[in-house]
Amino acid sequence: MTISSLTKIFEPIQINSMELKNRLVVPAMGTNLANPDGTVSERLNHYLVARADGGFGLIITEITAISPYGKGIPNQLSIWDDKFIPGFKDLAKATHARGAKIAVQLYHPGRQSFSFLTGRTLVAPSAIPCPVCREIPRELSVEEILELEEQFAEAARRAKEAGMDAIEIHGAHGYLVAQFMSGHANHRSDAYGGDLEGLLRFPTDIIHKIRETVGPDYPIVFRLSGEERVAGGRTIQETKTIIPLLEQAGVNAFHVSIGVYGSFRYIVAPMAIPPGYNVNAAAEVKKATSMPVIAVGRINDPRMAEEILKEGQADLVSMGRASLADPELPKKTAEGNYEDIRWCIGCNQGCIDRPLHSRKAGISCLVNPSMGKEREMAFTPASRSKKVLVVGGGPGGMEAARVAALRGHEVYLYEKEEKLGGQFNLAAVPPCKQEITKIINYLSVQIKKAGVKVALGKKVTEKIIHELQPEVVIIATGASPLIPEIPGVRGERVVTAHDVLRGKVPPVRRALIVGGGMVGCETADFLGEIMGCRVTLVEALPRVAQDVGDATRYFLLQRLAQNKASIITSALVKQLTNDGAILDRNGEEETLSGFDAIVLAMGVAPVNELAVKIQGKIKEMYVIGDAKQPRKALDAIAEAAEIGRKV
Ligand code: SF4
Repeated sequence: MTISSLTKIFEPIQINSMELKNRLVVPAMGTNLANPDGTVSERLNHYLVARADGGFGLIITEITAISPYGKGIPNQLSIWDDKFIPGFKDLAKATHARGAKIAVQLYHPGRQSFSFLTGRTLVAPSAIPCPVCREIPRELSVEEILELEEQFAEAARRAKEAGMDAIEIHGAHGYLVAQFMSGHANHRSDAYGGDLEGLLRFPTDIIHKIRETVGPDYPIVFRLSGEERVAGGRTIQETKTIIPLLEQAGVNAFHVSIGVYGSFRYIVAPMAIPPGYNVNAAAEVKKATSMPVIAVGRINDPRMAEEILKEGQADLVSMGRASLADPELPKKTAEGNYEDIRWCIGCNQGCIDRPLHSRKAGISCLVNPSMGKEREMAFTPASRSKKVLVVGGGPGGMEAARVAALRGHEVYLYEKEEKLGGQFNLAAVPPCKQEITKIINYLSVQIKKAGVKVALGKKVTEKIIHELQPEVVIIATGASPLIPEIPGVRGERVVTAHDVLRGKVPPVRRALIVGGGMVGCETADFLGEIMGCRVTLVEALPRVAQDVGDATRYFLLQRLAQNKASIITSALVKQLTNDGAILDRNGEEETLSGFDAIVLAMGVAPVNELAVKIQGKIKEMYVIGDAKQPRKALDAIAEAAEIGRKV
């Protein structure tokens, strides 16, 4: 074991009376893991406690409702009544036993919710709808505002009574407190709007009331967006003017995030946005306060966190999605064990893209299938060691092999290519996708460490299976491009998106891409951004990149537009010609021509002939991932993790 050379992130720090053992924070992230009645569920408890176990100094609960009508997600964690105290007590006890501290984030969504969740018409400072949620809220009366302030204070009292170490007021991301603070959402002309003093009345009243309730020593953290990044929203310069006023009101630390729902893509910035993109806002806030400042925003690497602290840009660092991907990141960092860290790759597939408002099962993580299922998916040693053959070294095959080997099985992994990674090797080629290689590297190292015997460049045949005599075969052979039976599809200039990403297609000047899903759009992005090619993209649906999450999609389409890609939607390709295609657009025929390459991106088909051949000849056989049914990588890896635990 080596010891980390990082020191700053492991220094203790004080926030009012709370002493933290280090400067690594798990920020509030909506998980939907609470019980339907709003109490702390076992799953939520285990999820949070796992992060304490992993060495984080401070853990902040997800958005926690201070009012029964302040719901933003179905399984809304709540603290609006004393009945919620016992769950928080257990949480505090378990967290403290692991040397960490825990805070409750006090939240009300205001206009950024839906009445089917709140059970009432939404409320806000002004009757202006959120541009994303679109419901017109009712303007709060002064009596209602005073009642909400009391509810915030009462929620803080309960947090303190439960033994929670601090509260964080959620004044960021465009929720109710932020709505009052921003001219973007607050058009009031009474004491709760207008000038700076009016815009800050609601938050400062809340801070005063909480302070009166919890006493002078109890830590109050205030989370706010340094920049809102919408027309009329707060800029970082304006944020700097309000910081001293919030500090005077009684705030003990500032947690500097970014954005509102109208600029959601920055709140949960995808791979296209560089790590640490919001640190500058924390650094600016730090110039305006003497209180500790927490930086947040795609800070995934502890070495980056160390630099942020060393350079004095912040005093603590939140590592949200990084903590989902690997709850043990601090522990592994302290041991200098970077190759064992499972890196967040900013894909957003598990934690953001599955709509939180309708999600029943809670969030998950592409690289960490145990996320939110810490107890259910804990390893149990195999009752008997079996010989397991995994066919296919993509992410699913590697994850299944890793888990099975860690449980004590003798695992062989055969991959027909000369390197591991499968379809992820191609997924990492388009612009802004390179972080995918981190998970390939992680799994490649981990299977070797777990003792998996890896054979590269070997296609598994019945003969190999006969020689190896495995008791279990896991088929993870992935998928190959679907070639639809369109007239002209065997033409000389017709290639697949996989061919392009594999580098098998010589540079072309103009390319026609057939299929505008994720693969088609990313291939267009690669050709336009990297190869300088003029691209035309044809999609049958009314929208391209329909299968891509909103934040990722936004930046992908932005790059396509910058590279002047021509996008044709609601068009069916009837025939491919020598240099183009004949389309059916709403019953009208249209011919496209003059292309050097016609690139098919029309989906993939499972590769599973081996499964058909050995069916019935092997006692235990599983077909997983795309070999079973082409799906998102998130689903393939989750399935692999389950099978690895089952064999
Ligand atoms: Fe990171 Fe993707 Fe996991 Fe979300 S799902 S935490 S973005 S790796």
